[in-house]
Amino acid sequence: MKTNSLVWTVAVGCMAAVMTQAAFAANVKVTPLGGQDGEFCPQDRALIFEDPNGARILFDPGRTVAGANDPRLGKIDIILVSHMHGDHAGNAHNKEPNSGSCASPDTSVSAMPNSNAVNIAVAKKAKIVTGSEMPAFFASKLKANGGNPADSILARFGGSVKVGGVTIATVTALHSNGLDPDYIGGEMGKNMKDAGIAGYVGEATGYVLTFSNGLVVYLSGDTGITSEQDRVVRGHYKAKLAVMNIGDNFTTGPTEAAYVINDLVQPASVIASHANEAATKGGKVQPGTKTEAFVRAAKVPVHVPLSGKTMEFDNTGKCVAGC
Ligand SMILES: [Zn+2]
Repeated sequence: MKTNSLVWTVAVGCMAAVMTQAAFAANVKVTPLGGQDGEFCPQDRALIFEDPNGARILFDPGRTVAGANDPRLGKIDIILVSHMHGDHAGNAHNKEPNSGSCASPDTSVSAMPNSNAVNIAVAKKAKIVTGSEMPAFFASKLKANGGNPADSILARFGGSVKVGGVTIATVTALHSNGLDPDYIGGEMGKNMKDAGIAGYVGEATGYVLTFSNGLVVYLSGDTGITSEQDRVVRGHYKAKLAVMNIGDNFTTGPTEAAYVINDLVQPASVIASHANEAATKGGKVQPGTKTEAFVRAAKVPVHVPLSGKTMEFDNTGKCVAGC
């Protein structure tokens, strides 16, 4: 009897060890939903993160997700919006994947006054998790479009929420976050537009996501260089994978973005984003591009987000498939 229970205990112990290992061996899948299959194009921001537990997160749908009916979306549980600018929330979008060309995408379908993010959230019954003052805006838009306002969830600086098994926190982004008056409409929207004034929805944000396999990912959003990329994103959260905006003019350029990665965040690898250029041809980075400059300047592996190509990352931030 004693021997039997010992054998049983050892067997259960081994099973638990194997299961723990399996949980940590599970990878996070990242799939870019860009303007052209297999390329990295000027408007590309949207990424789908899939947790090993199956939860699917859409980050910054922008203009390259062809509305809620884009067949590439599949199930979406959570939508993240770094800030309200049209190329991130999606004031307009392409008619279907691959509309137009890489250099000149066709984003002629208006998503105003809702945004691509809200239209997708309503259709998919997804939760929108934002920081700053954006949750009230999204709750109002969800309500106005037949969605559930309670699906707009707050994660303000320093706090976090766990949704679908993924811990979501927001961090500082040094940018702006004016709300286009076309989202407001009516007399007030018109007056604001005439005066050149945007609506106030708080600061722009970045995100730190902690997936169920332990992988910590920093999503820079549009930002300049901030000391918090050192003290908070690396120092506290210890992000191992970064999605870094490199497009210059509106956000860090390739040189500044490389400094952020090499000296401040220091992740194991980085996905370039927001290049605002036709960075690839046939899936190959083109000479003279900002993306090429970033790849050269960064001291860790740079993964170029080719639309539709799924990359898999382990809990250390290393790409283990699809890169
Ligand atoms: Zn912006």
